[in-house]
Amino acid sequence: MRCFKIILLTALALTITARGNPEIMSQDNGMEYNKLTEEETRVIINKGTERPFTGKYYNYHEAGTYTCKRCDAPLYRSEDKFDSHCGWPSFDDEIPGAVKRIPDADGMRTEIICANCGGHLGHVFENEGFTSKNTRHCVNSISLNFIPASTAQKTEAAYFAGGCFWGVEYHFEKIDGVLSVISGYMGGHKENPTYRDVCYTNTGHAETVQVTFDPDKTDFETLARLFFEIHDPTQNNRQGPDIGEQYRSAIFYTNNEQKNISEKLIQILGNKGYKVVTQIEKAEKFWPAEDYHQDYYEKTGKEPYCHIYQKRF
Ligand SMILES: [Zn+2]
Repeated sequence: MRCFKIILLTALALTITARGNPEIMSQDNGMEYNKLTEEETRVIINKGTERPFTGKYYNYHEAGTYTCKRCDAPLYRSEDKFDSHCGWPSFDDEIPGAVKRIPDADGMRTEIICANCGGHLGHVFENEGFTSKNTRHCVNSISLNFIPASTAQKTEAAYFAGGCFWGVEYHFEKIDGVLSVISGYMGGHKENPTYRDVCYTNTGHAETVQVTFDPDKTDFETLARLFFEIHDPTQNNRQGPDIGEQYRSAIFYTNNEQKNISEKLIQILGNKGYKVVTQIEKAEKFWPAEDYHQDYYEKTGKEPYCHIYQKRF
């Protein structure tokens, strides 16, 4: 297996070391995140904690969706909120793929961050017996916004694997109606895979992007057509310099309509003479990748090295 990205990542690590905090670096590079107040910055960027029993959403029972204060990504649903009496909003589940777990700097707890922007949310605890899911996301109110159900955004998710996720993410983020794009892993057997696991061991995972979109503004077919035009769907288990099963071409469908559209597009390309090797598989659990993989090209100001748009339809 060969990972061209290791070279680029080493360069990125050096850049971050040279310039200090990667969070500040991403802001320097003009990421379109919401402006934060001083107190919001203390909690969300510098991983602080708001005082217990003081947050806006501690005693809050409206129906709707909790989103990231910094980047607006949907994080939690009100259906998963419960009263733990711990002083902070508590949820026993997250919106799939929205929250990333990382070991806390204290060496004991598990920190939770927004998978899209890396903003600090709080900590997650297990086996406390509060609810049947036995999980408590203990989240700072100040890290959240709330969108009432009556005005909540309609969303649909699509999952595409087409080689290095940096390049695939880069193209989808430019599409009108796309709400968030997260780089991660899907289709393998290892839980909580790391980049090194996927690169150097046989996890079965493919580098995959989760595209969350507004079905009133765009649709799965538009996104799937783009997918076939920003990577080469005739390359088997590789994409340019990236070689290995983790770089296979795949669409992970979330419903039968997505499956039928994917098969139809492969048929159209087949009629045009393309020998498409893209696998159509049912979506499984999506594992968001490490924070430094998100928005890679925006953070670095680079252009994708193997995802160049090419008209095929
Ligand atoms: Zn965020």
